[in-house]
Amino acid sequence: MIIAIDGTLASGKGTIARRIAAWYGLPYMDTGRLYRATGVASLHKGAALDDGSAVARIAVSLDLDDFEEDQLRTAEAGQAASKVAALPEVRAALLELQRAFANQPTGAVLDGRDIGTVVCPTADVKLWIDAATDVRAERRHRELSAAGDTITLAELTQQLRERDERDRNRKDAPMKMAADAVLIDTTDLTIDAAVDKARAAVEKALARPE
Ligand code: C5P
Repeated sequence: MIIAIDGTLASGKGTIARRIAAWYGLPYMDTGRLYRATGVASLHKGAALDDGSAVARIAVSLDLDDFEEDQLRTAEAGQAASKVAALPEVRAALLELQRAFANQPTGAVLDGRDIGTVVCPTADVKLWIDAATDVRAERRHRELSAAGDTITLAELTQQLRERDERDRNRKDAPMKMAADAVLIDTTDLTIDAAVDKARAAVEKALARPE
């Protein structure tokens, strides 16, 4: 079973995806981590974030073990990720890795922006997670502040809008809800309630005749 969980930044999709993967005993891939690591490595190596072939070379030679989680979670890493994710060469370089992960015999849960539309268009279950912009900005601001980041809520809201805009409007694999995805709006939901909804959507999809 392949479960594709896409959605906007700080919508709760990562937490939902991890919990759904644990519930069904499936391997889990956070595909945003690939783009974050590519962005961070490109900054370290001094590659221009709009140089498709240089950044794609960095993407194919990534070793995710080289990165500390904290380093990938900063607002700067998120911004760099969204810039390199707009480069077609980079998306192509990371595509097979994601597909191979999805197609392992056990199946898998992947979360990202284009899993249901591009990486796994025939996934058994597709979820789209979203929430109001101000709620997402507050959530991410709380997380980043707790990790010691000094970014203000106003700056973060601005960054979040820019990232949504760039992710939605890029030519290659734009962030988009798949036509056959189930929408879960987490604006007014606790994380437990959101996970319950996600699980119900998976169960419903599994009960569907082929
Ligand atoms: O999900 P996360 O915030 O970690 O993703 C960071 C960035 O990586 C996103 O803003 C997006 O630009 C990019 N991304 C993507 N496709 C994916 C996952 C992430 O373009 N499947």
